[in-house]
Amino acid sequence: MASAPAGIALEQVSKTFVTRSGPLHVLEEVDFAVEAGEFVSIIGPSGCGKSTLLNILAGLEEPTAGGVRFDGRPGEGRLGSVAYMPQKDLLLPWRTALDNAILALEVQGWNRAAARERAGELLATFGLQGFEDHYPADLSGGMRQRTAFLRTILADKRLVLLDEPFGALDALTRANLQAWLLDLWGLLAVTVVLVTHDVEEALLLSDRVYVMTARPGRISRVMTAPLERPRTYDLVSSPEFTALKADLLATLRDSGPVVSQGARQ
Ligand code: ADP
Ligand code: MG
Repeated sequence: MASAPAGIALEQVSKTFVTRSGPLHVLEEVDFAVEAGEFVSIIGPSGCGKSTLLNILAGLEEPTAGGVRFDGRPGEGRLGSVAYMPQKDLLLPWRTALDNAILALEVQGWNRAAARERAGELLATFGLQGFEDHYPADLSGGMRQRTAFLRTILADKRLVLLDEPFGALDALTRANLQAWLLDLWGLLAVTVVLVTHDVEEALLLSDRVYVMTARPGRISRVMTAPLERPRTYDLVSSPEFTALKADLLATLRDSGPVVSQGARQ
């Protein structure tokens, strides 16, 4: 990718929504930071404010109190520098996989032939070669996610935000995509913030894991995942990983029930 990865930080960020039944305090004094090129996960109970936090990182929402710094500067211009993959893949059913993948490029003013050529170069890496002319309805769940992910990466942004990207997939597809994302992150050198409800996923992929409390969401712990890179999926059965997982699960138990957003779809 052409642009260098970017870091982003939240300083004492609080967020309150005004609702018909009164103010809803969603985030409280959240400190969060991801350095350029890092992979950081956010895990916490359902409804604790994870997606709200991601919306603030993306620039779609602004904090009620506290500050955002993008690459060390006030974060006003960050919206255009962020690639955001929402939880649902949002593929257009009337467009082929390839034409869904190039959507962000077309929005940026690329002509369709040039955009298709650019996407074509990455089809094999994303495991989509031979499927570029398929419509979303004819793709497996994993392929749909990879198409949505290719679209996110093609946007060529300096920060990638992923909101429970594998939440709705079966365990095997999920494990395959986790391993694949791990390789891809090494290859592309992007900054990634991943929201997940999966303890193994968070530890396997991340440099650090931010654990949130139930609403109003606060950061209850920042856990380093001190596992050597490059990592492979085999790591999950190692004693070191098992110990980290037990530790993280114990912290989460004190935070409230962790429910998959994807499971509710
Ligand atoms: P999570 O992603 O951790 O499940 P969310 O950030 O989606 O949590 O939501 C946290 C809380 O904020 C929920 O109670 C949700 O209903 C509420 N919420 C989210 N967005 C808005 C909004 N725009 N207006 C009012 N309430 C909202
Ligand atoms: Mg959410």
